[in-house]
Amino acid sequence: MHHFEAKRGELHCEGVPLRRIAEAAGTPAYVYSHATLSQHYRVFDEAFAGIPHIVCYSMKANSNGSVIRTFTNMGSGVDIVSAGEVCRALAAGAPPSKIVYSGVGKQVFEIEEALRNGILMFNVESREELETIDAVAGRMRKRAPIALRVNPDVDPKTHPYISTGLKKNKFGIHIDQAIRDYEWAARRRNIEVVGVDCHIGSQLTEISPFVDAAARVRLLVEKLLRKGMPIRIVDIGGGLGITYNDELPPHPKQYADAVVSAFSGLSVTLVLEPGRVLVGNAGILLTRVLYTKGAAALKGNGKKHFFIVDAAMNDLARPSLYGSYHAVVPVGRAPGKRTVADVVGPICESGDFLAKDRRLPLYRSGDLLAIMSAGAYGFSMSSNYNSRPRAAEVMVSGTRFEVVREREAAKDLSKGERTASFLAGRGKTRGRIL
Ligand SMILES: *Cc1c(COP(=O)(O)O)cnc(C)c1O
Repeated sequence: MHHFEAKRGELHCEGVPLRRIAEAAGTPAYVYSHATLSQHYRVFDEAFAGIPHIVCYSMKANSNGSVIRTFTNMGSGVDIVSAGEVCRALAAGAPPSKIVYSGVGKQVFEIEEALRNGILMFNVESREELETIDAVAGRMRKRAPIALRVNPDVDPKTHPYISTGLKKNKFGIHIDQAIRDYEWAARRRNIEVVGVDCHIGSQLTEISPFVDAAARVRLLVEKLLRKGMPIRIVDIGGGLGITYNDELPPHPKQYADAVVSAFSGLSVTLVLEPGRVLVGNAGILLTRVLYTKGAAALKGNGKKHFFIVDAAMNDLARPSLYGSYHAVVPVGRAPGKRTVADVVGPICESGDFLAKDRRLPLYRSGDLLAIMSAGAYGFSMSSNYNSRPRAAEVMVSGTRFEVVREREAAKDLSKGERTASFLAGRGKTRGRIL
């Protein structure tokens, strides 16, 4: 479900024609629908209504402050993976008591920042990390609430780069070894064992891996409870997939029913860490065709057609990184004639594509296109490669829209950079080749 629809031949985000946004904010630009974000949150949260739970939006999917605030205004907590994310989550109104901290490489300064702010819990991924948290908490005269992130060794059947719950992945503590580490943790004065955590991967389109993981986690919770450990939180991670092309992921209600029934009879609070499912289909990347190539070859079938657009792999890395599919939709009326083409960016790599071998209308220079389902892992993974300023971000609500992050300027590209002192003075003769 999303609020990007064509009306009278013009693609709109809610009540705003995307063409107007392109004129006002330029391209490339990410455009987010506030109504879609809110609706996704509401549906997800209500799916768990029958059980004590905290939805902790996984902000690495989209860290824009207005996106985070959309959810925190509705009662959401936040799942973070760095000290930078703690700061941005707090700035966007997240209550510390609803922040969970995940990730395999938490550093001392990051642990300190999280402890200072009194977060809900650390999802700890190794014995060494547990020891570090204990030591840092000791120095700060605090008790660190922890869950161990266990690796249940189930195959999430998704892209290998975003599978995290297999034995061979770097994540978590193998579920069979977790008891030992829990027993160690329970004896530490500066650690408070509060929960069990797992997160098996992203863009899952089947329910069974969630069910398998939850069953294994439940067995562990029961063992820990029998040992007298006060487990009161079960964090089942995120990972619910969305439709990019023709995937049919489970509805949040179906997902919630499966998770809730896996833990029925236990008096625990569930923590959920959805990212993609809340934001993925609530955002698009708006881009303009700069040039087209290959039209002359249309009669033959040897050559390829290219639409060169002003967005690139630095703006949206997913196609290059994972071979991901994003639908490409015209913003205005599209030409009737079609061709097979790649939609590519200006970056100097052949891996720089947004869409490959698609049957698309014969677009012309100047046409506006929407790269769909770009709200998750879009802007948040973007970079300045090729010294390209990062795109503007715009949020729409009804008939209003606002720039919620300005497009970077040329001066931002060299922010913090300085010329080495031993080079100073040399470059003064402009235009001379040394
Ligand atoms: C990335 C991540 C999530 C969110 O995953 P989605 O697939 O976007 O829902 C949740 N928990 C952890 C620990 C993560 O690393």
